[in-house]
Amino acid sequence: MTRTSHDLHFNRRALLAGLGATLVAPTALFAQVPTNPDVVVIGAGAAGLAATRSLMGAGHSVALIEGSGRIGGRAYTETSTFGVPYDVGAHWLHNDSSNPFNRYGRDNRFTIYEARDEYRVFDGSTEVSESDQNALWRTWDSMYDAIGTAADRGQDISVAKATERVTGPWAATAGFGIGPWAMAKDLDGFSTTDWWNTPDGDDWFCEEGFGALLAHWAQGIPVSLDTKATKVDWSGDGVSVETTKGTIQAKAVVVTVSTGVLAAGDIDFVPALPADKVESFSAISMGTYDHIALQFSHDIFDMGKDGYLMFKIGDDGKGFGVLSNAGGHGIAYCDVGGSWADELERQPIEARVDYALSTLRNMLGSDIDSSFVKGTATSWGQNPWTLGSYASAEPGAYRMRGTLRQSIGDRIFFAGEACHRSLWSTVAGAHLSGQDVARDVADEI
Ligand SMILES: Cc1cc2nc3c(=O)[nH]c(=O)nc-3n(C[C@H](O)[C@H](O)[C@H](O)COP(=O)(O)OP(=O)(O)OC[C@H]3O[C@@H](n4cnc5c(N)ncnc54)[C@H](O)[C@@H]3O)c2cc1C
Repeated sequence: MTRTSHDLHFNRRALLAGLGATLVAPTALFAQVPTNPDVVVIGAGAAGLAATRSLMGAGHSVALIEGSGRIGGRAYTETSTFGVPYDVGAHWLHNDSSNPFNRYGRDNRFTIYEARDEYRVFDGSTEVSESDQNALWRTWDSMYDAIGTAADRGQDISVAKATERVTGPWAATAGFGIGPWAMAKDLDGFSTTDWWNTPDGDDWFCEEGFGALLAHWAQGIPVSLDTKATKVDWSGDGVSVETTKGTIQAKAVVVTVSTGVLAAGDIDFVPALPADKVESFSAISMGTYDHIALQFSHDIFDMGKDGYLMFKIGDDGKGFGVLSNAGGHGIAYCDVGGSWADELERQPIEARVDYALSTLRNMLGSDIDSSFVKGTATSWGQNPWTLGSYASAEPGAYRMRGTLRQSIGDRIFFAGEACHRSLWSTVAGAHLSGQDVARDVADEI
């Protein structure tokens, strides 16, 4: 099996700050929220933006409302923290061939390039030789095989259960790579079948930031920011969407908020949605994946841009994987996931930065301190607009993906990363699901 960065990061499956900032072209802001459009789209992430553009392109009037003060949702690049592009959410352009942003970026003079496949691996403070890394990769392959075997047999069980016979000194590290680092969950929190039903493909990067790329694509789409949907009343004809800026009447609504937000009941549906629909919100549950981003003045990892660093993880599963010197901008994404990420979110950002820096110091030596500029960390699990990072099916719950996608009463439609048939948990999947739902809506109204 050829090992690619995709395998490792996501499974089987220089620009200066000023330029990065100018690439983030503004969307058009509504002076007032439209009160009587054909369709209300809730959420201006990748899915809501795509749904809006497709519906408008088909001649429908749309009110796109966004609760927070910006577009992009979980795909957002900012330059203010480090003075260079920093992807606060999505960074990898997964699944090259089916990722529409790959082509879009190249056509629009973004710097789009393929992810390299270079790793440094440590066991404590000792670097593991390249040949000894094979023990890790073999363990990884054994886990893949075990998950695939279970899925092929139709066993929708937890990945922890499917891989329990894979043991050895690198099992916890491989498990970290397949679970927290890729799926934002511990191995007992997601389904073999779900994991197996997403396609393979190589990873690419956008040097200016994935969020900047999405924002560029979205320029000109009209949106009402700071407009939170609180209630969807579908008791009469059409829908009535209550927001923090007034009520909007429409023929249909497209809901693109995360399953975390849906499961928390942040939007009140009246009458209540069917029980299986409500169940699907928590069955396709959110995992937590966070960046602890450290900026260094030079390449302390000595791998050029975009190398990967891993270290042996103990049975407690606590650790992180590193994308070093991302885009050549000097930022290391030290990424945590699953229950360890949840635990870290309860600590102050400074403590998380210290944790990542001291772990790296143990491997790379105290010289790194003189190159350290600053650090920050995300808290996507606590972010009220997402309540998690991305979703996957709980063990045994793969069938609930279909339920999540279903429309209700021919006027409440659902889109977003979790609704895509195969590219779930990605920006591309969210975007394509927005386009798909627009076709469904147009057929009904
Ligand atoms: C740290 C992190 C790393 C990731 N890495 C990658 C990666 O490398 N590659 C990749 O492809 N994907 C990655 N992902 C996943 C990817 O970012 C998401 O799958 C995708 O951006 C989701 O888009 P969406 O439109 O479905 O949802 P969102 O982006 O969540 O959009 C939904 C919008 O709804 C808004 N909203 C919520 N509630 C309300 C309300 N009541 N009223 C109005 N608006 C509301 C939110 O503010 C948000 O803007 C990552 C995610 C995270 C968090």
